[in-house]
Amino acid sequence: MAKTHIALAGNPNSGKTSTFNVLTGTNQFVGNWPGVTVERKEGIYKKDSEVIIDDLPGIYSLSPYSPEEVVARDYLLSGTPDAIVNIIDGTNLERNLYLTTQLIETGIPVVVAVNMMDIIKKSGKQINLEKLSYALGVPVVGISALKNWGLDKTISEALHLIKKGAEEEVSFPHYDNRLEAALSEIEEVLGSTAQARYSRWYSLKLFERDERAQKDLDLSSIQQKEIGEIIKITEKIFGEDAESLVINERYNFITHLKTLCVVDEDQFKLSISDKIDRVVTNRFLALPIFALIMWLIYYIAIQTIGTMGTDWMNDNLFGDIVPNFVSSTLQSWNVAEWMQSLILDGIIAGVGAVLGFLPQLMVLFLCLALLEDCGYMSRIAFVMDRIFRKFGLSGKSFIPMLIATGCGVPGVMASRTIENEKDRRMTAMLTTFMPCSAKLPIIALIAGAFFPNSSWVAPSAYFVGMGAIVLSGIALKKTRLFAGDPSPFIMELPLYHMPRIGNTLRYTYDHSKAFVKRAGTIIFVSSIVIWFISSYNFSFQSVDENDSILAALGGLIAPLFAPLGWGDWRGAVAAITGLVAKENVIGTFGILYRHTEVAENGVEIWKSLQAAYTPVAGYSFLVFNLLCAPCFAAIGAIHREMADVIWTWRAIIYQCGLAYAVSFIVYQFGHVLFENGAIGIGLILAAIILAAMIYFIVRKPVKKAPTITIEEIKEVKEWQL
Ligand code: GDP
Repeated sequence: MAKTHIALAGNPNSGKTSTFNVLTGTNQFVGNWPGVTVERKEGIYKKDSEVIIDDLPGIYSLSPYSPEEVVARDYLLSGTPDAIVNIIDGTNLERNLYLTTQLIETGIPVVVAVNMMDIIKKSGKQINLEKLSYALGVPVVGISALKNWGLDKTISEALHLIKKGAEEEVSFPHYDNRLEAALSEIEEVLGSTAQARYSRWYSLKLFERDERAQKDLDLSSIQQKEIGEIIKITEKIFGEDAESLVINERYNFITHLKTLCVVDEDQFKLSISDKIDRVVTNRFLALPIFALIMWLIYYIAIQTIGTMGTDWMNDNLFGDIVPNFVSSTLQSWNVAEWMQSLILDGIIAGVGAVLGFLPQLMVLFLCLALLEDCGYMSRIAFVMDRIFRKFGLSGKSFIPMLIATGCGVPGVMASRTIENEKDRRMTAMLTTFMPCSAKLPIIALIAGAFFPNSSWVAPSAYFVGMGAIVLSGIALKKTRLFAGDPSPFIMELPLYHMPRIGNTLRYTYDHSKAFVKRAGTIIFVSSIVIWFISSYNFSFQSVDENDSILAALGGLIAPLFAPLGWGDWRGAVAAITGLVAKENVIGTFGILYRHTEVAENGVEIWKSLQAAYTPVAGYSFLVFNLLCAPCFAAIGAIHREMADVIWTWRAIIYQCGLAYAVSFIVYQFGHVLFENGAIGIGLILAAIILAAMIYFIVRKPVKKAPTITIEEIKEVKEWQL
């Protein structure tokens, strides 16, 4: 007789492994799913050797976005499992139930096991399991994998369901009537193309334009066309794309479930975490507290503690010790003059200028790691979600932004978690406005050279980045390209805890290591190139840097930046080399200013900068480099996420355009207000651009499709036919 297969499915950390271990003991077999490196575990149920338990990988949904989701989905639809036991973390119902709705829709019998009941009991909350079962239309059992509560009952419920088999009337989560109407029409079009038990699944997946589902079914062209029309009409009615429409509906269903089933008995007994949250996520206090914390972090990292280290690195290590040692060694070896210049004025000046900022970066990373590990950063995501939502943006965009404070590349990649395509594109386009670690040296340099006594300048860079994201988001959401409701975002707020030393040190070490690695690779090579083209002319003769190839090329583009206040060739070249890697902005200054005067220490760069630009021009330079197109690696990441050349160009043009416009406004206004600059055409232009920007932010959004009823869908459809 064929054995009975029960699949364990659930989110990562829901307690699946613990459950699997209790159910199967030592009778486990571990391998890989075919073709991928995702682990596959199978075991024999301890109390019945005819029952095989299959442990699926931890997943959040059945959309085919990750290898884990794909193997789980393929396996479920393969017909092997007779039932699914869905382990959900009861302390985190909303997020876990998202997968539950999809599992039920596969048509396979599902038993929901609400895990962590031991914690729920202690917390004073109560989940009404009967109501949950009623509303989901499947059996629900409360379990604790840790204490072995309810596990055998779960399996016996599953076996009972399997026995009942076809007699059982299957019910699915019920969504908005207009969506339901569309789904039943798709089911009709499908007819017998999909097995009856999977027809709900396929109608939903086809509605979401899921490519794998389309491939699985091998639809005729007439079917494809009809389904395409149903989707288009429904999208028109809801005014949003099909995929996000389904996601919204799932979350609406879940929110309703939660209010129905969860009772907070002890509302007045607040935990310490709750008490802290009352303050830090308070409607009015949250943002000022966040601003204060970020100011403090930048103050510590850039203005005070981190600076001591950086000063030492710049003044002594790379200003004195290393150059002197290398110089005397090279001289004693009688190394050719040009080689000495390459090593001293190129590599050490370029790489050294960048590495000098390592202490400030390390302190910044350490502070960010502490905030992250103690649980504060997730509060900020929560607070930002509330604000973003008011403007029609998704709070999900904040997570990529947080990641981008380390490096824009993973930041952009993190936008993949946003299901709504428009929001995803917008996030990929805006995320790199955040100051990443490579931009930090630019911030520190400008703050140190022009504003040594103003502690607001360095943190202001963080807020300029964030402001650019939020305001761009608001303005872009009002355009046709990005209009639509935001992706829903439900996040868990972990309890606060003392930061773990190991975690914070590892975070700091990993990020610092990446920075040093870049200095040793891409910055190293760039420094050689920059040294060469700033030391030679087009006939490859060694010349003064003002006659060099770089000066000639820089001179061509420099006038472009003159309206921003820093139109000399050195600034222009620094900004352009920043495209290769943002650290190059500093590396380039390091090399160029070392040519003009033999620097005693790093502060010489400050002096040269002060001589070249006014403070407002310096700030305008900072703003431009913060906002303009990121480095090539991040542009590559944007291209991968957009999967479209035109969209990638749109992103680059938007970023550079915004950077130019904001720096122009900063310089023109700042120069008149703070540096007694003359009022002229520049200021008028800046005022016009500023007014245009404000208009795009405050204007009314493009019209969304009106909401109409199910009867009207039919009318629209008839009218279309
Ligand atoms: P998986 O990622 O879904 O496989 O989850 P694990 O089985 O690894 O569990 C994640 C964490 O939750 C582990 O630290 C477990 O010890 C803990 N855990 C699992 N089930 C329970 C439970 O019922 N109660 C409590 N208190 N902790 C649990």
